[in-house]
Amino acid sequence: MTKRTDADRRAAKVYDAEWAAGTAVLRPLQSVVEAQALVDYVLKSRWWRKTCGIRKIDVEYVPVWELESEMEDRRTTGRMRLTMGNLSEGVVLHELAHCARGDVDNSHGPDFCGMLLELLSRFTRQVVADRLREELQLRKLI
Ligand SMILES: [Zn+2]
Repeated sequence: MTKRTDADRRAAKVYDAEWAAGTAVLRPLQSVVEAQALVDYVLKSRWWRKTCGIRKIDVEYVPVWELESEMEDRRTTGRMRLTMGNLSEGVVLHELAHCARGDVDNSHGPDFCGMLLELLSRFTRQVVADRLREELQLRKLI
């Protein structure tokens, strides 16, 4: 068994906050095509273009339970892998927050949390971002 690191513990707390706020399952998407359309929409926005250098992200759906969804990015392109149960707007925005922060160590730190709140506020509704902010504050993550 691998040792749980501080980053693992922090990630688990962020996931708990997302479940409590309902953002983990926010708006289920019907297919990977719909997930790709959401990613393209965000990437085309003026805000994204000012925030992050990634210009193209390919979204893949991996129908397994054993893995978590992940984001892999290079200088200008990236790949998002969504696994079972993760085809939702909330998870897509979570993965985009990693990408926007260049969060390569997957630390789910305060910068990541701030970016996730920004994405939720811009691309869903402010009330959704406010709800998650409360849960993150309760857990002392921001
Ligand atoms: Zn994450």
